[in-house]
Amino acid sequence: MSSSNFGVWRPIAENVEYNALESNSNAVMAVADTVRTTLGPKGLDKLLIDQAMNRHVSNDGVTILLSLKAIHPVARMIVEIAERQEQLVGDGTTTAVVMSAEMIKEGKRLVKELGVHPTKVVEGIESGVKHACALLEEESKKIAINDIELEHVVKTSLASKLDGASLARMVIRALRNVGENAKYDGEYDFNKSIMVIRKTSMEDQIINGIVLERGRLDPELPVEINGARILITKLDLKPVKEAWIKENKNYQEILLMENDRMSKSKEIVDSMIKTGANTVLIASPEVDQAVEDMLVARGIFAARVATEEIDHLIRYTGAKPVRVTDDLKKSDILGKADRIREDEDNGLIYVEGGAGNNIVTMIVTGSTKETSLERWRATIDGVNAAEAALNKGVVPGGGAAELHIIDKVKGMKLKGLEQVGLDVVAAALESIMRQILTNAGFNGLEKVMSAKTSPKGYGIDINTGDPVDMWKKGIIDPLLVKTMALSAAGDIAKSVIRIDRNLAAEDLSSQALSETKR
Ligand code: ADP
Ligand code: MG
Repeated sequence: MSSSNFGVWRPIAENVEYNALESNSNAVMAVADTVRTTLGPKGLDKLLIDQAMNRHVSNDGVTILLSLKAIHPVARMIVEIAERQEQLVGDGTTTAVVMSAEMIKEGKRLVKELGVHPTKVVEGIESGVKHACALLEEESKKIAINDIELEHVVKTSLASKLDGASLARMVIRALRNVGENAKYDGEYDFNKSIMVIRKTSMEDQIINGIVLERGRLDPELPVEINGARILITKLDLKPVKEAWIKENKNYQEILLMENDRMSKSKEIVDSMIKTGANTVLIASPEVDQAVEDMLVARGIFAARVATEEIDHLIRYTGAKPVRVTDDLKKSDILGKADRIREDEDNGLIYVEGGAGNNIVTMIVTGSTKETSLERWRATIDGVNAAEAALNKGVVPGGGAAELHIIDKVKGMKLKGLEQVGLDVVAAALESIMRQILTNAGFNGLEKVMSAKTSPKGYGIDINTGDPVDMWKKGIIDPLLVKTMALSAAGDIAKSVIRIDRNLAAEDLSSQALSETKR
């Protein structure tokens, strides 16, 4: 594989590159070409290979882009929008990339061939994108958690993924399991109520409860507790530091400190147990061996928890983490769960029947680390798509929503040459269906034309090539995925089109820049 395929950056020969738009746009195209063939249900996978010959097969736009080596700095902006799309909505990364490449291509044509000033193009893009987003919103429908459309959104989002159909079923079950419980301040936030972990050598599972990916603190602790009263501690559980002991060479002093360590450890353990806790989840950085031994002796269930798990445990069990020993005297610090147990074979701890808000954990597996990773990512995409759909509504998929607003976008009246900037947005709106169908082996352009003359909401059946009503066919996308992708694409296109020179600079680290400003 030649790395120049991704628009590799070579130092600028004469310190200035006059034809920046040409070279930047070529670099963007090269990067976009690496992912555009993955778009849609018939999109193909990429085999990623690193220097050590590690392999990974992926169909996920952002994963592929992030793995590319040595990318042209402008093309790197494409990677950044894919990342931003992933963070903001968690799906639609390839869509964002395809649209931005299309906008840049069309924008360059207007500037180079028709001599339109870049700022006119940029202004046209800005108005066009805004208008297109508003039109998509008009076309959208609201959906509720028990509607069939929720299933359609999740299936559409996972259509192109490895094992997508079975993952979609699992995601839908998880979503309906938490249901309205996942609403916070009126909006669904599944981050708070669905955990997705990945494992090899197990079956896929949905657990009503929290699964922690570790074993308990000590093999001699009980494996299972029924009626768990849970204390989450951030207390310092290493009251005497080893360094202090080492510093004191005098035997008498060491003995004193050792006694001190034992009595302080006992004091902490006693006061933890006095709260009535039979389960201690530890978020403290260190645990003294003496503390551990005393917990074993008292038959307490104890395990470490990671910071990112604490919020889930708080919501699920109602526990309030203790930070200082005085907190242990408060009355409402313990959380409750019907059962906590370790699955010793798989090194997992299950917390089930929590007294607080409902939480569901999906265990996503795969026969190899790579497949479990790819399926895990896809699962999270599906959950994100559902969240976006429930909060902001849905539009017909397969590029149909975009296609049927093109005429209205082009019909906007802008002053003067800005009008041509609308062509840039129109090109992007058309590109999604064309790419999906090209990837399915059709003549994309021809099929897009026949969909365009069909009624609103119609796209092309990916298998037969005939026009179909996407709503009826159950191919629907979250509105938010579309509007975010469109705005992100617009932002990138605007910045690339505005650049007329690439200059070789001395030092652009943020520190150097702030010093020049001064
Ligand atoms: P992205 O990274 O942009 O999410 P995907 O590869 O997941 O890319 O493809 C998503 C696109 O595929 C959406 O526009 C969706 O509507 C479309 N799609 C999914 N299933 C179908 C189908 N059966 N027919 C046509 N388009 C589909
Ligand atoms: Mg997707």
